[in-house]
Amino acid sequence: MDSIRIENLEVYAGHGVFPEETSNGQMFLVSAVLMMDLHPAGVSDELTLSTHYGEVCKFTNSYLRTHTFQLIEAATEQLAKAILLNFPLIRVLELELKKPHAPIGLPFSCVSVRIERGWKKVYLGIGSNIGDRKAYIEQALKRLGDREGIRRVRCSKLLYTKPYGGVKQEDFLNGAIELETLLTPYELLDFLHELEKEAGRERKIHWGPRTLDLDILFYEDFVSDDPRITIPHPDMENRLFVLEPLMELCPYYINPINQKSVKQMLKELQVSDGWKE
Ligand code: ADP
Ligand code: MG
Repeated sequence: MDSIRIENLEVYAGHGVFPEETSNGQMFLVSAVLMMDLHPAGVSDELTLSTHYGEVCKFTNSYLRTHTFQLIEAATEQLAKAILLNFPLIRVLELELKKPHAPIGLPFSCVSVRIERGWKKVYLGIGSNIGDRKAYIEQALKRLGDREGIRRVRCSKLLYTKPYGGVKQEDFLNGAIELETLLTPYELLDFLHELEKEAGRERKIHWGPRTLDLDILFYEDFVSDDPRITIPHPDMENRLFVLEPLMELCPYYINPINQKSVKQMLKELQVSDGWKE
């Protein structure tokens, strides 16, 4: 990806574990790589199509002088988030914070923290089969759109589907959602659980009726099957109500587990269901 680099911006600020560090302050050096598409600015010579690096430097200086952290890890993490939220054209940010005068009491040239953070593309499945199904889904979409660190929320058409998994219950209203987020998969899942709870969801029967179900289908190319989270969603290739709405949003998205596109998984499921073209 194209990038703009800022090297060793000097900021005098008061981060540290010791009280003298907060009261006296010291010099920090900030380096950043702002990763984004620079082609539009390159061909048009228009500043509004790029990220103003001077503004990023001023923002960084002011942020580090008006917030206080004990750890350079925390200062870097929070500053990265603030830059990504305030300069929306930056997709990925590499940020390094150096502390050349850290009170170590031994000769050294520098200590630093470097992180990479960015907007991740995510696909969710959404479903409801109790009460005003459309209203539960619309409310969830609004809450997603309003959440800090979530942007560009787009929902597929909603479709009514027969319940899956053998439990007798009302038809579902299902859809898929595309969004970008700064949240980790775990933070995102916690937020989705909050939304399910707000919708009054009770977990009684597995695959049973629910006011709101929000599943993470894909999170970039992240793969996990640890006890808390399974991504990509394990059963998606068997679920028409997942693949059909995904087909509208991202037909060529590749499932990192089986290397098949959404389009291919849907086709295979339709064929195995005896569907005729
Ligand atoms: P389902 O969505 O399969 O009908 P539930 O909504 O009841 O089942 O979720 C069961 C559990 O799965 C929850 O505790 C949730 O934390 C966990 N889980 C694991 N991976 C995911 C994921 N990718 N998306 C949503 N929930 C997940
Ligand atoms: Mg679920």
